[in-house]
Formats: sequence, C-alpha cells, structure tokens
Amino acid sequence: MSESDLPEGWELVVGLEVHVELATNTKLFCSCPNMFGDEANTNVCPTCLGLPGSLPVVNEQAVHFAMVLGRALGCTVQPSVFARKNYFYPDMPKDYQVSQYDLPTNGEGALELPDGYVVGIERAHIEEDTGKSTHVGGDGRISGADYSLVDYNRAGVPLVEVVSRPNMHTIEHAKAYVSELRDILLATGVSDAKMEEGSMRVDANVSVRPTGSTELRTRCEIKNVNSIRSMGRAIDYEAHRHIDLYNNNDAPRQETRHWDEANGRTRPGRSKEDADDYRYFAEPDLLPLDPTAAEIAAIDEAMPALPQQRRRALAEAAGLVPADVALVVERNQDELALAALAAGAGGAGVVKHLINNLADGAGQLTPEAFAGLVSMETRGDLSSTQAKTVLAELVANGGQPADVAAGLGFEAMDTSELEILVDGLIADNPDEWGRFCEGDKKIQGFFVGQIMKATKGQADGKVVNQLLASRASSS
Ligand code: ZN
Ligand code: MN
Repeated sequence: MSESDLPEGWELVVGLEVHVELATNTKLFCSCPNMFGDEANTNVCPTCLGLPGSLPVVNEQAVHFAMVLGRALGCTVQPSVFARKNYFYPDMPKDYQVSQYDLPTNGEGALELPDGYVVGIERAHIEEDTGKSTHVGGDGRISGADYSLVDYNRAGVPLVEVVSRPNMHTIEHAKAYVSELRDILLATGVSDAKMEEGSMRVDANVSVRPTGSTELRTRCEIKNVNSIRSMGRAIDYEAHRHIDLYNNNDAPRQETRHWDEANGRTRPGRSKEDADDYRYFAEPDLLPLDPTAAEIAAIDEAMPALPQQRRRALAEAAGLVPADVALVVERNQDELALAALAAGAGGAGVVKHLINNLADGAGQLTPEAFAGLVSMETRGDLSSTQAKTVLAELVANGGQPADVAAGLGFEAMDTSELEILVDGLIADNPDEWGRFCEGDKKIQGFFVGQIMKATKGQADGKVVNQLLASRASSS
C-alpha cells in the first residue's frame, strides 16, 4: 500500500504553509546579522528585542527577495501593507509579529509539479521571524520542562510565508510541492532552503472528506515537520486519525498538532486561533510598499531559469516528457545532459546514465566524453555493463571513452568474427537450432549465453540476437 492511500471512499485534502527564511545579510527591520548558529543572544539590538522607543527600518534586500520569490511563483506583486499580528509568546518580545494581512506583497500564483499537476498559491507575504525557545528537562516540550531558554538571534529574521491552496490530494503531491519550492528557492538564491536549520519550515493543514465531495472539513495544522519524509508520515497519520474519528461518529477539532517523529504520531498543541483572535491592524511605524512596474519588470528580466522551464527544455531536447527528467534537473545535471545531447548523444541513454550511474556527480566526465560513451553503447560497441564500467572510469579519471574501453579490453568484436562463432554454434547444436527456428523464445538465451561465454562477455547481446534472427530467417 502506498502511503498516500486512504481507505476506500475518503479523499485527502492538504494545504501547505511554508515559512522561508530569506538569505539577507541583516534582519528585516534592523541591521543585526541574519546568521544561523551563532552564540545565543549575540545578534540583537533594541529593535529586534522589541524595546520601547525602538523603530523598524525595512530591509530593501528582503523586500526584493520576497518579490523575486513571488514572481518565481507566478504571483501578482502588488502594493502591500505591514500589519501587526497580536499574540503573546515568550519568544516574541513585542507581543506582536510584524506581518502582512489583507494586502500581502504577493497575491495569487501557482506552482507546477514535475508531473504537470498545478498547486494554487493563495499568497506569499513578508513577516518577521520570532526568537527560539528551548525547553530544558523533560522530553523537550514546554509541559514538564524544568526551565526554558530564549534565543532572540532569530527574532526579526526576514521570512516569506508561502500559503498554498488546499488542493493537494495525495501525499506524493504534497512532498513534490515542498521539493519543488525548495528547488525554486535555491535557483533564485532567495533562501538556502535548509529544512534541518529551520530556514524552510512547513506547516501542513490536513483534512479528509468523502470522495466526490467538494466541502472543506475541519482541518488540523501539523507544525514544524523537519523533513519532507516526516511531513509525508505526519499527513498520513493525521488523515487516518480523522477518518477514525468520523467512523466513530466523532469529528476532529480545529487545532495545531505537533509531529512526534519518535512515536510516529501527532499530538495536540493549542486550539487554533481564527484571524479575529489576532486583532490585526496596519503597522503605524512602517510605510506601505508600492513597487513600480519597472522594478517588477527588472525582476522578471533577471529571473534565472526555474526548474519547470529547465525540465521542459531538457525533456524537449531529449525527446522525453518532463517527469522523466525531473531528477536530472533536481540534481542540477541538466547542463551536462544538454551539452552531451548537443555533442550528438541520444536522449534516453544520457538520462538513463545520469539517473542510474551519475547520482554522485560527474567528476572528470566531460560532455563530449559522455556523448561518445552513449554513442558507443547505442551502436553496440559496448554492452550496458561495459558502458557502466567505462563511465565510472571517465568520472574518476577523465579521458576519452574509446581509449578507456580499449584499456579495459572492451574492444568491440568484429561482426565477421561473431558470425563465425554463431555459425559454429548453430552447426554444433542442430536440435536447439531447430527449436529456435520454430520460435522457441527460451532457447534464445542458450545461444546468447554460449556466445557470451566464448567471447568472455565482449560480444554485444543485441548484435548476437540480430545475427541469430537473420540466420533463422534465411535457413
Ligand atoms: Zn536587531
Ligand atoms: Mn506566519
């Protein structure tokens, strides 16, 4: 059973909120360094500590990065207003978070997954990060802790929160969405997108509904899963929990839940606030943002090739579909693939080797050598096992495929030599040959095997089969 499978009659509904830390040098509203892993409370000032009388000054680079991400997600970049989101939490010293509410910087957009499925983006707004609490003693939760520590180095780090529409219905799509978003962040350079360092934090809104229904039932928000794999497990657990509740004439309550990786379950957090509870109002200490058409055009102009475009370009050049080349693009090997194609290699061979044999990188392999190797294999000068061996050598030490093949003793067998061997084998095995000519497929392996044995594996299986077929049709 695939993990995206729900019991018959139920459909999964997932929307994702991803907090992305922007790769700026300094924080969103002050000049403190935006740095992960420094000693606690060393990158702080009156502004990011929320001391009375301090005033925010907006970081232009952060706003630029936010707009770049918005455009990469096909969002409308629009005039926007910062807003105060009021709530109390020890790691948020002002007792409000500066965020955006009804006028986010980036409006409606969309993200296309490698298989062509399109996930709607509702908005991608700018906000400041909070500090980080560490609960000491007990099992790391606030309840049962002996005491708690707060590090404000993260307070005021610029974030963009990317909010998807709840239109993902399989765990595979939810995972592909996060993976695609990460690749877009890396391609545009707006974030280092390290989930393990918290620079990309995913909250998953999960609900279920009867198949065929379009209603949105009560959702639970699973917080802070720290890998794509954990997110998949958490969604799966949560969906089944909802179904069990409905099957027992009960229903889930709207709440945040925390993923417990060790026990493979979610546990309740706080009951989820609605927007009303936050008492949003426009931030009086900051001006609205109003990017000009020229600024937005310049962002579009400078936009690097995004994963989706790169998949399309490679798929077209290789004569394949985008999903086939997704892994190559994800590994940033599309440039090598395109160069090998341009040097005359066949698309299927190039992609096959990149996916199966070049996962750890191409090392000393040049596009020309790669193209030459694929062509040798396609012509039948090298068997696929030999090609793999030659490729490993080219990756390790460089060189030309023909030289490496010769050095390894992988000389292509002359077809006339092979013909003599095949004819001899036929003459020695008249009964088996009779069965072959009558179309017994099983006996084909016997002939190929004998030739391979006689040539110590140097014969090309494809050529042997062709020879056998031509002999059979003329006998
Ligand atoms: Zn500061
Ligand atoms: Mn947020």
